Amino acid sequence: MLRFEQLSFWEHQQYLHNNTFVIVGAGLVGMSTALSLKSRFPNEKILILERGYLPTGASTKNAGFACFGSPTELNDDLQHIPKEKVWETVELRLKGLELLKNRVGLSQMNYKNCGSWDLIGPNDIALNADFLAQLNLEMLHRFGLKEVYKIDPEFQQKFGFQGYHTAYFNAHEGSIDTGLLMATLYKQCVLADIQFLFATEVENWSASEQNVLIQTAHGQIETQHLFLCTNGFAQQFFADELRPARAQVLLTKPLKHSISGTFHADRGYYYFRDIGPRILLGGGRHLDFDTETTTHFEQNLLVRQALVDKLTREILPGQHFEIEQEWSGIMGVGAQKKPIIRSLNKNVHAGVRMGGMGIAIGTAVGDALSKLV
Ligand SMILES: Cc1cc2nc3c(=O)[nH]c(=O)nc-3n(C[C@H](O)[C@H](O)[C@H](O)COP(=O)(O)OP(=O)(O)OC[C@H]3O[C@@H](n4cnc5c(N)ncnc54)[C@H](O)[C@@H]3O)c2cc1C
Repeated sequence: MLRFEQLSFWEHQQYLHNNTFVIVGAGLVGMSTALSLKSRFPNEKILILERGYLPTGASTKNAGFACFGSPTELNDDLQHIPKEKVWETVELRLKGLELLKNRVGLSQMNYKNCGSWDLIGPNDIALNADFLAQLNLEMLHRFGLKEVYKIDPEFQQKFGFQGYHTAYFNAHEGSIDTGLLMATLYKQCVLADIQFLFATEVENWSASEQNVLIQTAHGQIETQHLFLCTNGFAQQFFADELRPARAQVLLTKPLKHSISGTFHADRGYYYFRDIGPRILLGGGRHLDFDTETTTHFEQNLLVRQALVDKLTREILPGQHFEIEQEWSGIMGVGAQKKPIIRSLNKNVHAGVRMGGMGIAIGTAVGDALSKLV
């Protein structure tokens, strides 16, 4: 690979010189930040540095749930996290989803308003009716959303699952085509004259009063403002607040099924959906938290087996299926579910720790980051 010193005058002018803003990470948050910066500062040059030949974290690998919180997950959160923090995060997700829909358009990410079901299994206790009513009241008063969570008495007949005794339906959530969303954002960036350098890893940076010097694998770049949008890979800057979390996914070969929509189980630790004739199932990292606290894109056989068992016994009972593809991605999580949106100094800013709902939250984080300068 050529070093920056070996590049031509034209290459230097076009890509490396006079970038007012440099963003690290071409995931959903990096591109959203770039687009928000461009609309605030249309004449400034913006460059995104991405170490992978594709974005290589979570944004092109996720399950494509456009969601803001299932009732059992909210119940869990409300027991561990202060109430107002929980609702602030839900608010950011709802705001982010609206911003995303407005920016991208529904058809350009194949948004389907399919709804979601939160499934309660044999070892889980159904939510108290008063708690559900309270959640719905909060949703109404805070966000104007009516009857968000309802018991669906017909889910068994509709989908043919086994082992779940209750399901809470939320008509306000949906699904997207993750690849299409990211391709659309990339096109929007290119049209907005935002430059990309792929296969360019940022190794280090040093900030002074005036500028930031960024050390990459190919040489140095200077900028006025650096934005770290590296999510699960940003642990060195936020040791006590952020850790990586691997998430694994299985995709079946095409088969005949009656599943349509997005589904959460076990407080959101499992999630599945249809992708046409295929079923995508992910999750299970709670079975082996320590091993799954990693930035390595590998497979955990214990988690894989749990996913296969779930498909066999609960999701596609009595049906033959084969796995067509499997992959993992890396999220950024912490004790707080709220993302970190913060300036580390006058010229370096970070938007990380998207948790498991970055599709919803990512655009709002980009918007907030662009307002730090
Ligand atoms: C399997 C899986 C399923 C998920 N399902 C859903 C879902 O259904 N709904 C939902 O809302 N969310 C889901 N998520 C979470 C969601 O995908 C993330 O929250 C979101 O994509 C985070 O976006 P990001 O841009 O912050 O991070 P990323 O997409 O991880 O982007 C960070 C980028 O930074 C780059 N980078 C890192 N370090 C460097 C460096 N030193 N130099 C240059 N580049 C660097 C990485 O290569 C990466 O491309 C899921 C995640 C996974 C892994």
